Parts: sequence; structure tokens; C-alpha cells
Amino acid sequence: MLELKKLCAHYGMHQALADVEIHVGAGEVVSVLGANGAGKSTLLRCIAGLMPVKGAEMTLGGKALTGLKADQRVEAGIALVPEGRGVFGDLTVKENLFLGAYPRRARANEHRNLERVLELFPRLRERLPQSVRTMSGGEQQMVAIGRALMSSPDVLLLDEPSLGLSPLMVSELFKSLERVRDDKVSILLVEQNAKRSLALSNRGYLLEQGRVVGADSAGALLASEAVQRAYLGG
Ligand code: ATP
Repeated sequence: MLELKKLCAHYGMHQALADVEIHVGAGEVVSVLGANGAGKSTLLRCIAGLMPVKGAEMTLGGKALTGLKADQRVEAGIALVPEGRGVFGDLTVKENLFLGAYPRRARANEHRNLERVLELFPRLRERLPQSVRTMSGGEQQMVAIGRALMSSPDVLLLDEPSLGLSPLMVSELFKSLERVRDDKVSILLVEQNAKRSLALSNRGYLLEQGRVVGADSAGALLASEAVQRAYLGG
């Protein structure tokens, strides 16, 4: 499905990613774990076409992503939920969700997709006319993920979706993500909550200073002492 090879990214002289190789299979959930500044957000931004990359091979379903602009990548099946969500506070929940349905690939199915989003996040149903600014952080995160799902993505890129949410909201969010996974949408997940994120995932990668330094099944990573020490507070 999503294949990345030789992915390098720079901010001026600073190399944020070096020769990253990552694979996300169809219907797979894959976590990327790493300390602050490891390059996780940069990785997602590169895949979404929001940052220039040189010489990388990036394909989705065998088709090249490199050379496509951000909107063309959405059309190809990539949807990013950025850190901080990127929702429009002055617009209603419904307006935010329908903004996600602009790609041609999604237009014909927008009502079916909306129904699915409201099944995944039942809280949003009664709040469709509410302006997003007046919602809790957790609800806004649901709007952001819902908006991404409105584009009928093949791969959902999630950047720290649980950041700043209450423990109750985090549980609700991860339950919804399980249902997204059950819909066979592939997910590449960057999360500070490594335990939850690995529990949802099939596999995971460890990113350190812009390099992949480990990759394994989620079960093996959860059991690994080094991973527990570094990311699971154990
Ligand atoms: P965090 O969890 O703290 O967001 P991260 O793993 O997502 O960290 P990135 O945000 O991808 O890390 O940043 C990777 C590196 O690139 C860091 O050293 C960071 O300081 C640097 N960096 C990120 N954005 C910029 C920018 N706009 N300009 C310059 N350097 C940047």
C-alpha cells in the first residue's frame, strides 16, 4: 500500500529525516514512536506533500506520490490529521466535515461517508450545527478525524491525536480508531501515548534523530525492555 524509501528531509541545514524506509500494508495500523524532535511530524508532512523531499521513493498502491502536490495526494488517497487538528473554529461541525469531502474521489459518497463518520463519532451527530470553537478538545479531534475520513482515504495519517485530551476522551478516541481500523482504512499513527498506540497497531517503527532505529510487530515492541524504558515509562 504505502511505501517510503530513501526519505530525507531538511529544514535549512538541519536534516530532520535521513533515509527513512517505512511500509504500511492495506488495512494495517502502524505506529511511529520517537522522542520530541525525532522527526515524526516531519515524516507525516512529507507523506502529505507539505514539505519538499529530495530523491525519495514514495508510492501508494504502486503509484508514485513524489511530484504530486498536497491536494493531489488527498485525491490519491492520503489524508493527514495534523497536530493541533487544523479545524475551522468559526465553521460548524457539519461545514468542517463537508470541507473534507471536496476531492473528486469522495464527492459521490459524501452522504454515506457522513453517516459513517457520525456512526464512528456519535457525539458529533447532535452537534452538527454547533460551531467548532465551542467544542472540547476531544470533540474537535473527532471533527478533525471525521473531516479526514470524509475524503475516503486509503491511508489516514494521524499526528498526536490524543495530545491534550482527558483520559476519558483518549479512551473514546482510541475506541473510535479501532472502528476505523475495522473499516480497513490503513493508519500511520504518531502518538505520545505509546502503549495505547501499540495496542491499536499491527506494527511499529522507532524513530531517533530522523532515522529508523527499530521496527517490529506491535506485540514485540510492547514486550521489549528497551522500548518499555524509552517510550512506555517502564
Ligand atoms: P514533537 O513530538 O516534539 O512534535 P517530532 O518527532 O514530531 O517532535 P518534528 O516536529 O518532525 O519532530 O521535528 C524534527 C526536527 O526538525 C526537530 O529537531 C525540530 O526542531 C526540527 N524542525 C521542525 N520544524 C521545523 C521548522 N519549521 N524549522 C526548523 N526546524 C524545524
